[in-house]
Amino acid sequence: MSSTIKPVSKTQPVKANSQAAVYGERAMAMMHSLHVMPIPQHYSLFFACAGGQPSELVAVIDKAIAAKTHFTEEFLATLYHKYIAEPQARVMEDTALNAKRVLNEIMNNVNVFAGETNALTQEVTSQLGTMDGEMSAEVVKLLATTLIEGAQNMRTSSESMTHRLAGAQQEIADLRENLAKAMTEAERDFLTGAFNRKAFDRRLEDAITHAKSEHLELTLLMLDIDHFKHFNDNFGHLIGDEVLKIVSKTLTDTLKGMDCVARYGGEEFAVILPNTPLHGGSVVAEVIRKSIASKELKRKTTGENFGVVTVSIGVATFRPATDTSDSLIARADEALYISKNSGRNRVTQEVVNH
Ligand code: GH3
Ligand code: MG
Ligand code: MG
Repeated sequence: MSSTIKPVSKTQPVKANSQAAVYGERAMAMMHSLHVMPIPQHYSLFFACAGGQPSELVAVIDKAIAAKTHFTEEFLATLYHKYIAEPQARVMEDTALNAKRVLNEIMNNVNVFAGETNALTQEVTSQLGTMDGEMSAEVVKLLATTLIEGAQNMRTSSESMTHRLAGAQQEIADLRENLAKAMTEAERDFLTGAFNRKAFDRRLEDAITHAKSEHLELTLLMLDIDHFKHFNDNFGHLIGDEVLKIVSKTLTDTLKGMDCVARYGGEEFAVILPNTPLHGGSVVAEVIRKSIASKELKRKTTGENFGVVTVSIGVATFRPATDTSDSLIARADEALYISKNSGRNRVTQEVVNH
């Protein structure tokens, strides 16, 4: 018996739909004549045979028909697995592997772009892990679409993340600058710009620690404006404020920012001179005293003359064996008191008993 299977000639293309219908009709006719149950697996077997692909299947069926072989369930199942299911699985596997490779490439690009693995990467990676050869073409396609969309979303979100990070970085830089400014301001006296009492206390402690550990000398100046109450009474508090600013500026200018100048109280200033012996401190104090006393104070607009202000200064040097910050301040204050009592506008250094 000659073969009832006649593959459609490749040189006579027919429309896909009508081609499928022709294959379907042939498949049904073959199953009927061979007494094969029209179940989906058998149909897909004879449909493939009617289309002439794969040619090995066509040959096996032709041979079986010629040999009048009975198309048992077992024989049909073997044919189905060998010629339909396994090749389909291989195609699925190849498709899945290709999808995996392409998606991995996308993910690598996205990862390079994003510069880090995020939750989306993990999700996509875990989805890639679930891909195996058992999935249908639709599932693979759906999964691929999902993953590509995920990768695209990730790219978009990583771009916006990069953008947001850049913005956040700028914000952090601004905040840091503001904080540094606020911290600087918190240490300063509002009127004169000198360090305030709190900052002075901290800096003196630090200077003492440093002097002790490095075996360096440390000298402290305490300075008080002479008869300042009288000055205020004569010219007013606002002019008095201007004088406080002038004294403060004279101190910082003289010390060139190397040492700590602080407003200790109303019209009192303190100066920390690290790595400076008692005599050196007295020399600096004398320079300051002269500088302030030599300034003739005038109102800029009218030229009104306020005369001069003078300061009295006390000088003391840190004694590592016995001193605390309080005892050092107390000795500098005592020396200042001596300056006041001995006529003001002068520098007194503490008495050191050798
Ligand atoms: P002495 O030479 O003994 O130091 O005399 P004094 O008048 O300077 O000292 P006293 O302690 O009697 O008075 C201090 C004055 O300093 C009183 C106050 O009017 C003035 N003063 C303190 N703080 C400020 C300030 O912030 N602005 C102004 N304008 N004056 C101040
Ligand atoms: Mg005073
Ligand atoms: Mg005073």
